[in-house]
Amino acid sequence: CGIVGYVGPKQAQDVVIDGLRRLEYRGYDSAGIALVADSALAVSKKAGKLANLEKAIAEQPLPPSHTGVGHTRWATHGAPNDVNAHPHVGHLHGSPDSPGAGRVALVHNGIIENFAELRSRLEADDITLVSETDTEVAAQLLELQLQSGLDLTVAMQRVCQQLEGAFTLVAVDALDPERVVAARRNSPLVVGLGEGENFLGSDVAAFIEHTRDALELGQDQVVTITRSGVEVTDFYGVPQEGRHYHVDWDL
Ligand code: GLU
Repeated sequence: CGIVGYVGPKQAQDVVIDGLRRLEYRGYDSAGIALVADSALAVSKKAGKLANLEKAIAEQPLPPSHTGVGHTRWATHGAPNDVNAHPHVGHLHGSPDSPGAGRVALVHNGIIENFAELRSRLEADDITLVSETDTEVAAQLLELQLQSGLDLTVAMQRVCQQLEGAFTLVAVDALDPERVVAARRNSPLVVGLGEGENFLGSDVAAFIEHTRDALELGQDQVVTITRSGVEVTDFYGVPQEGRHYHVDWDL
C-alpha cells in the first residue's frame, strides 16, 4: 500500500520509518523495513500499526545503515500477519528453512496476477515459499537472478518481464549497499531527488520532508538510485526519461 526507499548519508531507519508514518493516511494492516548493513539484510516486520513495528525495533534494534526500504501493507493475498508482511526476503536455492540466507529484500504494492503459475515453477525447482503472498514469487525470482550473477538492476528488469498485473516493486541487495532498485506497472512510483541522497516512494508524501524535487516514472520502467545518481530504463534495459517536477503544494 505504501512504499519508501532510501540511499544516502542519513540513517535509513529514520528516513524509512518517517516516510511510512507520512503514508499511514492511506490505511494498512502491517508494516516492515529492510536495511542493508555489513553485507547482510536486517529485516523487521509486524502485523498491525506502525507502532508495533517500532516496538519490535526498540526490543531488537537494527544496525546502522544508509540503504533501506519500507512498506505498509494492505493485504490482498494472504492474511495480515507477520510472515506475510513485507519486505520478503529471498532464500538460497533449496534452503527454505533459512529464509534469512538470501541477498534480496523486496516490497510490493499491487497484485501479481500470474503468481500461482510462477509459484508452481519455483516449487518445481525445489524453491518453497514461506508466505502466502503473491509478492514472494517476485522476491524469489529476483534472488535467483542475483545468484546467477546479474546485478540488481538487470535482475529487476528480467523479473518484471515475467510478471503480469499491477506492481510497484522496490528492492535492495545485501551485497550491493549503494543502490536501491524499483519498478512499476499500473501502480505509482516517484523518485525524490536529493543532494548526495535519493528517495523512492509510492507517493511524494514518502520523502516530502527531505526534498520537493521529484521524478515521476512512466509505465513499465525500472529505476536505480544511488547516492549521486538516478537511472531509468524500460524492462529491457533501454534508457528512458522520467518526468521531473517540483512539488509546490503542501501535504
Ligand atoms: N498483494 C500484496 C500482498 O498482499 C501487496 C499488497 C499491497 O499493495 O500492500 O501482500
